[in-house]
Amino acid sequence: MGSPAASYQPTVGSVMDVDRDFYDRLAQHTESRTLVERFVIPIRSGRAWEVPAGWLCRVSTPEGPQCGDFNVWNRHNPRERLWASRTRQLQSAHVTQYDRLWSTLPHLRPLLTITADSLEWYGVDSDGARVHDLLGSRCDPYVNRILTGEDFDFHCHSNLTRAVLPYGLTEFDVHDVLNIFTCTGLNDRDEYYMKPSPAEAGDFFEFFAEQDLLCALSTCPAGDLSIPFWGPDARDPIEVCRPLAVEVYRPADELTDGWSTPPIAAYRGLHGMALPERPTGQPG
Ligand code: ZN
Repeated sequence: MGSPAASYQPTVGSVMDVDRDFYDRLAQHTESRTLVERFVIPIRSGRAWEVPAGWLCRVSTPEGPQCGDFNVWNRHNPRERLWASRTRQLQSAHVTQYDRLWSTLPHLRPLLTITADSLEWYGVDSDGARVHDLLGSRCDPYVNRILTGEDFDFHCHSNLTRAVLPYGLTEFDVHDVLNIFTCTGLNDRDEYYMKPSPAEAGDFFEFFAEQDLLCALSTCPAGDLSIPFWGPDARDPIEVCRPLAVEVYRPADELTDGWSTPPIAAYRGLHGMALPERPTGQPG
């Protein structure tokens, strides 16, 4: 007996219908792209950066496995940001090449499309776990205090909070993440678990910016998740913490000819409401 089909199926010609040839060309023609920016995010820290619409961005593991908690916004409107829950429904709970990260209502359009994933081979393992996790969220100091009774200032939520401050954003703008290079699943009691990241030095995750983006990434203080941060066997996993690298590329113009940022979702109703009449005459 096969498993049930996905409930959200792309309709042909809609914004959910991915032109794979377009993204394949962007992924394959690496010789024609220009490296515009490269930086390394040290362990237990965060950084934010911009990726203009039509450009590419690659996140990689220069020194070995490391989990990266990723946030993304419309550069010009931080209310439009990753909607992890809807992305799980429209794509899947773990993402790879050709999957898109979708934005919040009332925008509901792709923020980015994944063009390359060196861990795509991992697929699903014998526990049912997969890589690049949208099920979980960022570690944060509040849940850490509940679980351990201690304060710690370098969880992903805090790293992302410090990272976005130069862009005028705050803790309230930090949202549910994509956990890049993180291997997770649900056990037979439907409980969330994390496993050691299968990444090796040089693994990468690359995406195409569908609009002007502000991105932020935290090098998780739990490192590659091979040592539990919480629970009976917990200890400080600092020896499995490694940096992440970020590269921003401008692809050759001919690769994006004819492409444009997707429009916001077309619904123009008012949720069944009628607007109140504009008052006439002079006030008072
Ligand atoms: Zn974390």
